[in-house]
Amino acid sequence: MTISMPTLPYNAAALAPVLMPASVERHFTDHHCRYVARLNELVASGPLADATLDEILRRAAPRGARSELFNCAAESWNHAFYWRSMKAGGGGLPIDAMRAQINSDFKNYKNFAARWKKAAAAQFGGGWLWLVYDVGRLKIVTTKDAYTPILRGLQPIIGMDLWEHAYYPDYGAKRDEYADRFLNSLLNWEFANENLVKAKVSGMIDRTVGPMHAPAEAAVAGK
Ligand code: FE
Repeated sequence: MTISMPTLPYNAAALAPVLMPASVERHFTDHHCRYVARLNELVASGPLADATLDEILRRAAPRGARSELFNCAAESWNHAFYWRSMKAGGGGLPIDAMRAQINSDFKNYKNFAARWKKAAAAQFGGGWLWLVYDVGRLKIVTTKDAYTPILRGLQPIIGMDLWEHAYYPDYGAKRDEYADRFLNSLLNWEFANENLVKAKVSGMIDRTVGPMHAPAEAAVAGK
């Protein structure tokens, strides 16, 4: 097996009542684990059998959403990052290095939170919301479907799943409420701090090997 099956960094009940245990369990097993299992089936016995997830992503990226291999690899990466972006009793005001960076790049936390919720609401269809570090500053970006910011040289700091399966069981169509609760009660600022420190040390890495959003023809192809 090339890619290790994931483990949740906490008990499935740990994020309640923001995300209920059954919702987290189903999201993890029916979505994340399935992507990883399918990814391993796709690469088994082929030239990528011993490749890392990062290598698979870069090899599959040029075909983007037209490639099941890309979608499985990207969703495997995105979900692993998402689980680590949350913790029980998280959220609230940023700490340590993130506090200064948020104040520098968004003026203040309140402005950051407003822009995070606005971006979450503006995304049409499935995708992801990210806080990334790009050329020395934090930015909020969204990606469509399985697309992941690491393929654009952006360094993820926090990721939030915007697919309906992430919030419908607990919030129905109220994606804004999910985004609000994520900020207030889940966001793992320690993880964000670790990522910010790493991003500043590694600097800008050119990993641009594919578009962040699916090109029109890929969306039509639907594969
Ligand atoms: Fe998901």
